[in-house]
Amino acid sequence: MKQDVIKFDNHIYQIDVFMENKPGRMSCYYIDSSNPILIEVGPSNSFPYLISSLESLGINEVNRSAMTHLHLDHIGGIGHLVEKYEEHFVYIHELGLKHLPNPEKLWKAVTDIYTEKWLIENWGKIKPTPIDKIKTLNDNECIDLGNNRKLKAYHDPGHAKHHYSFYDDVSKTLFIGDTLGLIYPHGNFVQPNLPPPDFDKEILFKTLEKFEKLELNNLALAHFGIHKNPYDLITNAKESIDVWIKFIENLPETSNQEASSIMEQWVRTNYEFLGIDKETIDNYTNNVHFEMQVAGIRNYLLKKKNS
Ligand SMILES: [Zn+2]
Repeated sequence: MKQDVIKFDNHIYQIDVFMENKPGRMSCYYIDSSNPILIEVGPSNSFPYLISSLESLGINEVNRSAMTHLHLDHIGGIGHLVEKYEEHFVYIHELGLKHLPNPEKLWKAVTDIYTEKWLIENWGKIKPTPIDKIKTLNDNECIDLGNNRKLKAYHDPGHAKHHYSFYDDVSKTLFIGDTLGLIYPHGNFVQPNLPPPDFDKEILFKTLEKFEKLELNNLALAHFGIHKNPYDLITNAKESIDVWIKFIENLPETSNQEASSIMEQWVRTNYEFLGIDKETIDNYTNNVHFEMQVAGIRNYLLKKKNS
């Protein structure tokens, strides 16, 4: 089975789980400290790739994991994880208690957007997680990694209200899930990821401004990989989010579908104008559900208008 694992300093492994059978779309992380932890599990269909990579590192038992949020591309394989490793438990936002043992609502939220057929083929069916395998997180909670090393959990809403990011105080790496946005391989810029119902610019910017105050060497994104210019990327993300919101504000008389195709073309043209190669542009645009981005931005604008 194909594997792609990159070892970083301080015993951090980046594991490509080949989401949708493609490289460079979803990374999980493993911190091989004296008290190790897995960060993210990826979708259900990716689980064999995750296990194969862990085993290639000689890791045959994983007792705990931390999940950034409750979207199925991040937690779809969670039921497999607790089934495979008897002792395993997961750290997650308290909404996990409600949804992981009965994942029907999470399933429906995605099938409403992508269809059930797409979801089964691409991310795979999900198994319920027993409630006693779930440990809920608190803001600023420190997870002990052994040898005086800690992983600090920050509740960081903006992309999703149930999002947590995790800060490793030894490597100064922030495992930021989807809060920042997307950075695909070969790209060095952030593409926003602003889905409904939770995207809220003011909340997200407050989160990003909090992170700018941390001492950061690396940002570890789910989509995709570890990046070594954290402050530039946070600035870049905020600028892009502002530009995307403005663009949608200027398309008031269109359906979400119409706006999304206009937006996709505009995003592509902007990237071409910046001189970005076609493969990178395809990476950034072909796998984005632009209609969902439009819906997320419009939902935020409506909330703001009514508040
Ligand atoms: Zn995601």
